[in-house]
Amino acid sequence: MIIAIDGPAGSGKSTIAKILADKLSFIFLNTGSFYRCVALALLRSRGSEQDGSGVLLPDVSDEQQIINFASQVPLSWRDGNLFLGDEDVSGYLRSDAVEAIVAPLSAIVEVRHIVNIKIRFAAQGHNVICEGRDMTTVVFPDAEYKFYLDASVDSRAKRRFEQGTSSLSIEEIRSSIAARDEIDRNKKEGSLKIADDALYIDTSDLTIQDVCDMMISKIHL
Ligand code: C5P
Repeated sequence: MIIAIDGPAGSGKSTIAKILADKLSFIFLNTGSFYRCVALALLRSRGSEQDGSGVLLPDVSDEQQIINFASQVPLSWRDGNLFLGDEDVSGYLRSDAVEAIVAPLSAIVEVRHIVNIKIRFAAQGHNVICEGRDMTTVVFPDAEYKFYLDASVDSRAKRRFEQGTSSLSIEEIRSSIAARDEIDRNKKEGSLKIADDALYIDTSDLTIQDVCDMMISKIHL
């Protein structure tokens, strides 16, 4: 069974999907981390630090070069972690450098096709809760359950700031989220939109527990 969740950055998708996956004994797939892994590999190929920092941000407008690179990235998902070759890079995927290039990189249609194959492969044969931007619309259009989690830009920026994974100020995080929203909503393929058959939940003024309860009440195993 597939439970698919979409929504913008910081809407609580991954926290909630993880809780539900534990509760239902499903596998949790955070699909943004697949794109982040490709972004990290690209930064490292330019000689960056392990977390992608310390190099000029690559120009992702040369799409063909990025596609060629992405098609050869030795990315794999194993038990909830993202690997580049044999290295578990999960701890480096939320760096500011990765954050700065992941949205434009994921806007390249062919990169999406490469990543989608890896996401479907990881999900194959499992009960899965996955979250991203196009889980309900493109990657798993036949998912048994579909949700769209939303929240205001302000509350999303506050949540990201409180996660403590960024060295940016709350205002800088806010503009970075707004910029990513703009890119995510205008992608040629896999853009962020609400599927007709998804349950829409605005989480701005809800607790994590409230949202989990609402979702669980809809899921019948
Ligand atoms: O969910 P997260 O913020 O970690 O995703 C990182 C970026 O990857 C997003 O800003 C979005 O541009 C991209 N993404 C995507 N499709 C997905 C998941 C993430 O384009 N299914």
